[in-house]
Amino acid sequence: MEDSSGLKHKELEFTLAAVSQLSSSSLSSSSSSSSSSVIARFSADSGVAELRFHRDSEFIDGFNVDIGTSQLFKLGPVQSLCVSESSGAGKEKSYSRAVTIQFRNEDESRDFHSAFEQWQTDVFQGIHLPNGAIAASKSKFDYKIEPSSAKMYFHYYGQLLHQQNMLQDYVRTGTYYAAVIENRVDFTGRVVVDVGAGSGILSLFAAQAGAKHVYAVEASEMAEYACKLIAGNPALAQRITVIKGKVEEVELAEKADILISEPMGTLLVNERMLESYIIARDRFLVPNGKMFPSIGRIHMAPFSDEYLFVEIANKALFWQQQNYYGVDLTPLYGSAFRGYFSQPVVDAFDPRLLVSPPLCHVIDFNEIKEEDLFEIDIPLKFIASVGTRVHGLACWFDVLFNGSAVQRWLTTAPGAPTTHWYQIRCVLSQPIYVMAGQEITGRLHMIAHNAQSYTMYLSLSAKMWGPGAVQGGILQTSSGKLDLKEPYYRMSQPQSYTMAQDQQPQQLLQAQAIPIHTEDLEEAELLQQPSENTGPQLQ
Ligand code: SAH
Repeated sequence: MEDSSGLKHKELEFTLAAVSQLSSSSLSSSSSSSSSSVIARFSADSGVAELRFHRDSEFIDGFNVDIGTSQLFKLGPVQSLCVSESSGAGKEKSYSRAVTIQFRNEDESRDFHSAFEQWQTDVFQGIHLPNGAIAASKSKFDYKIEPSSAKMYFHYYGQLLHQQNMLQDYVRTGTYYAAVIENRVDFTGRVVVDVGAGSGILSLFAAQAGAKHVYAVEASEMAEYACKLIAGNPALAQRITVIKGKVEEVELAEKADILISEPMGTLLVNERMLESYIIARDRFLVPNGKMFPSIGRIHMAPFSDEYLFVEIANKALFWQQQNYYGVDLTPLYGSAFRGYFSQPVVDAFDPRLLVSPPLCHVIDFNEIKEEDLFEIDIPLKFIASVGTRVHGLACWFDVLFNGSAVQRWLTTAPGAPTTHWYQIRCVLSQPIYVMAGQEITGRLHMIAHNAQSYTMYLSLSAKMWGPGAVQGGILQTSSGKLDLKEPYYRMSQPQSYTMAQDQQPQQLLQAQAIPIHTEDLEEAELLQQPSENTGPQLQ
């Protein structure tokens, strides 16, 4: 049995008891096995990671499996089923194929499964084997993202109402416009690629700024509307080409001097579109070309918000009923409670709820590798400015347009003019107590998943005071697991506090000591009609 490192260095073979194919017509097993030995061979010979079957050294035709697009299921201790897409020519009518594999014993079955998993990981990571690179028969996007997620995602962006929602975020669109027009020098006479062009608005801005040519790449049905919009602006239209497709897949006639894109999701990284931006950089941008934006920063600070905490905890109370039409609901209370705390809360909050100055995690779009975004691990360390109960971590982001003439930040900070991204707060089910000057440590660990988002693991700790502190080193720790894909949109709550549009977030942090008007909050609480998330709200 090869260990996982060995797998990367040579082809692997397994001797099987038998292999057979499930026939689509009868759904019965038409055995192709015989008493002679059957070999399963993992190979990348054809440039695609494949599992091939051989009997008496003869390749069994029609049984080969594309590892990147297949799934392996255990039917029993020594029997497994490998389901893959049909490699038939008619793409539109592709059906699944299944091969039943019979192992000689349980050990060999287990080894085979771990080999299969390892090869699949290698395919996802695009690992190059010495006997040939695994060329993706599907694009990087298709390997990483579950088809159902991608389908919903592009369906969402294919609708004008959602593009309008982004266009009507004037902080967002206005900042892009200013950043482009103020930096004409970076666009005039240049080739531009608009990564995820949507309605084509950024392409039109780039053309207004004098671009020689703009390639507007858009994967959703919005590409057709973009064509229409651009055609309706004839002064700019002859310098813009709309290309319908994923940036991971389309080919362009020339390299770009500059990329423009709006790939930011909630907490910057939701939607995993930053990865597409990075792939576009590697595929289309000339060396040392410009990226608009070029840097993103995730900002984080602990917050205290008793109202929010109680609101979330109370949501699960429903499940504490012992006589709901004669049914005891309490067995599900724990799961419901955990479920509510696993939703990051999206709303605009008063920056005075922050318990310490924020720290930030910088992502340099010019330098970062796509894989660096698969896992984001941020150590946390804050000093509490006030004594309070900490209810979790508040996060927001900003991006930089590093123009040759003017540098501009687009910020989504609390207290700054609100954007459609708002801010997010990860609420912990167990608050922690801190005193002014006390150190709060922790970790935010985010792992990308194939539904275009991240699983978030958050932990915050503070040294206990009182008798515990005397002994020293006793930590009060609270942790939680959240899914960035399933946020709780809480925007219908009236904001107790509005900020002058030009006030900077840094000034606000210093104003933390200002007491919050309790009447305002009580009123807000009374008026509050928490709205459940009614559908995908992506960008
Ligand atoms: N640039 C527009 C739209 C931004 S929303 C604007 O600023 O208003 C992001 C857009 O990128 C969506 O329309 C989405 O369909 C598109 N997109 C996301 N991932 C993509 C990919 N991998 N390839 C091409 N388009 C993509």
